[in-house]
Amino acid sequence: MALLIATGTENWIPNETIRDDLLALTPDADIRTPKTVGNPAEIRMLAVSSLPKDLPGQFPNLQLVQKLGAGVETIVAHPALGPHVRVTRLRPDAPAREIAEFCLAYVLRATRNMDAHDRAQANRSWDPIEPREADKTMVAVLGLGHIGGRIAAMFRDIGFQVVGWSRSPKSLPGIPCHQGADGLKTVLNSADFIAAILPSTAETRDLFDADLLAQCVPGATLINAGRGDLIVEEDLMTALDTGPLAHAVLDVVRQEPMPPENPLWAHPKVTITPHVSGWHLGDAIKDVAENFRRLKAGEDILHEVDRTRGY
Ligand code: NDP
Repeated sequence: MALLIATGTENWIPNETIRDDLLALTPDADIRTPKTVGNPAEIRMLAVSSLPKDLPGQFPNLQLVQKLGAGVETIVAHPALGPHVRVTRLRPDAPAREIAEFCLAYVLRATRNMDAHDRAQANRSWDPIEPREADKTMVAVLGLGHIGGRIAAMFRDIGFQVVGWSRSPKSLPGIPCHQGADGLKTVLNSADFIAAILPSTAETRDLFDADLLAQCVPGATLINAGRGDLIVEEDLMTALDTGPLAHAVLDVVRQEPMPPENPLWAHPKVTITPHVSGWHLGDAIKDVAENFRRLKAGEDILHEVDRTRGY
């Protein structure tokens, strides 16, 4: 029984690095990479970042796909993945912290007037601008799961006002939490900054259309670190051009890599980062080794995804 590491991307951690990290934890395991696949019938578990169209069909005895991260939308709905194949994800600490840092960086960039001070320095102009106080600034966190819960707690702990939104009810100390369409409007009606860290599902796709964007308060900033298809990009640009939004920070977009002709690149109120807000796996690699052991032993898999729910 073998585990194949095939991240499916060249812009991230190399397969061989992940294999070596796993072998350090579990030296006797049969762990392969695309260069050492061997007999395809022996591959029972795949560890991927993205799952190419033709990959699952190559392994007749595949039982488990391990996503090396969180977003599983393309894996759960993969047309070549038989319904019996289980899907699991990681709940790594490292990228949750990194994404929280990312959101904080862009909130502070605005509240501490960093761009304006950079421009003033370029003009050798001593131009004091009052910073915005954290306790008078409302941050809405959409998605209160592994990552969103971390983001919300971080902003709360450093003194921001925080409000949250999720699918099921949540009880987070000091953070009013809402659900449903009305709950989302309530949240947006009060938020100076909106940090979205939602999975891509049938309910979240195209959620931020013209109608919803119109619910944001004038001058709000939208930070999307979840999935790009949350936002209708044409409607976002209209909301930036004519109100109410002041700025959008997009770590994820509908088409990645974003093609040069996408007008978002040049929009003066848009900041694009190339899906880098959460990068490292940290010690979550041990969960991949543990899942391979559990698969072999016939035990429950860690962080298994409900393929029908989609996340
Ligand atoms: P979780 O599954 O732990 O949390 C998802 C959250 O979204 C939950 O709070 C869930 O609600 C909420 N949610 C799902 N559907 C809805 C809905 N229809 N309405 C309201 N809330 C909803 O996932 P993670 O926090 O680990 O990750 C979230 C997403 O972040 C991933 O799916 C991935 O797409 C993205 N991501 C992006 C990265 C990047 O580098 N930019 C890196 C890692 C992840 P409930 O709690 O009720 O289930």
